[in-house]
Amino acid sequence: MKVLLPGATLGVMGGGQLGRMFVHAAQQLGYFTAVLDPDPASPAGLVSHHHVHADYLDEQGLARLADLAAAITTEFENVPARALEQLAAHRFVAPGADAVAIAQDRAREKAHFVRCGVAVAPYAVIETPQQLEAVPDALLPGILKTARLGYDGKGQVTVADRVALAKAWEQLKRVPCVLEKRLALDFECSVVVARGQDGRMANLPVQRNLHRGGILAVTEVYEGNIPAAQAAQAVRATQAIAEGLGYVGVLCVEFFGLADGSLVVNELAPRPHNSGHWSLDGSDVSQFELQVRTLAGLPLVAPRRHSPAVMLNLLGDLWWRQGSEQPPPWDQVLALPGAHLHLYGKQSARPGRKMGHLTLTAESAAAARATALQAAALLGIEAF
Ligand code: ADP
Ligand code: MG
Repeated sequence: MKVLLPGATLGVMGGGQLGRMFVHAAQQLGYFTAVLDPDPASPAGLVSHHHVHADYLDEQGLARLADLAAAITTEFENVPARALEQLAAHRFVAPGADAVAIAQDRAREKAHFVRCGVAVAPYAVIETPQQLEAVPDALLPGILKTARLGYDGKGQVTVADRVALAKAWEQLKRVPCVLEKRLALDFECSVVVARGQDGRMANLPVQRNLHRGGILAVTEVYEGNIPAAQAAQAVRATQAIAEGLGYVGVLCVEFFGLADGSLVVNELAPRPHNSGHWSLDGSDVSQFELQVRTLAGLPLVAPRRHSPAVMLNLLGDLWWRQGSEQPPPWDQVLALPGAHLHLYGKQSARPGRKMGHLTLTAESAAAARATALQAAALLGIEAF
């Protein structure tokens, strides 16, 4: 196993906010960084030592990144597997192209969960009209999801019956899809795990997540955020999923908690995750430092959550409160104790766009929740 000590250059495919926070963590540890992203104003490119302005499949751009960086990771799952393979021919790449390819396809992802012995929501793969016909009634009402390229609830249609299902598949241009039974969720949660080249793992505590309109809105992390038995089960399942992939890097698995006390896995992200952002302020090791450590072959130590934390996602909508674009009242928000503001350097605040996040830490869960609710009220985020 090759260890890259601080002073080396670490590369990342993609220049979004996840890449930006990876770059920050790498630089804090004394690494140089290189980002590949076509956008000259990408959030990560703006703060990186090197920024290769190239498309993800541009061979020259990839060669330049491999030239600059001793090891390369990725910050979004839709990076073409081919690009990772080209890089891997020259450099250490984590996660590997095969693990990323599984995460890019909901059907393969679910098959992997089942292989690992982790329960999934009842589902069927729909690639042909015959498979559409053969869908069992028990899957309805359901949610039809495109197998590829969905995120933040995009590429999903809720369907009540077979007629709606057929219409939805047309609407999604008959691309390969997965139909899932619509479950009554008691809660949602996720687990971030890092797995090193030596197979050792370290995880963050279970995160309780609230989604609105298919987008993560709030993450709460403290003792008792979800029932202990389901929390332990979620951690074990996440470890089994990472192990089964022979994964190296940081991975996040999302789960649904059901009212009968059971837990089913939803999906995985082969990278740090929005629900793990609290770890920058509430844990002594963040998910981005874990990503740096796995990429550089450094030891993984168990992160310790030192403060209860509540994270609020800051979507572009918050900039549009009185019909015109204006920044939210940051001065008032920053007057709250334990408020940690992270803005990603994005220029235009489009509705639904992830502009930043705010984490509230405190000595008790009740205090963190109370200040988070105050912040939410100041920002115009609905109470939770
Ligand atoms: P994305 O890739 O867009 O995050 P998800 O599959 O995670 O897609 O779905 C987004 C959200 O939609 C989930 O976090 C959950 O709130 C809701 N959802 C998805 N699948 C189901 C389901 N089978 N039953 C109930 N709610 C669901
Ligand atoms: Mg999701």
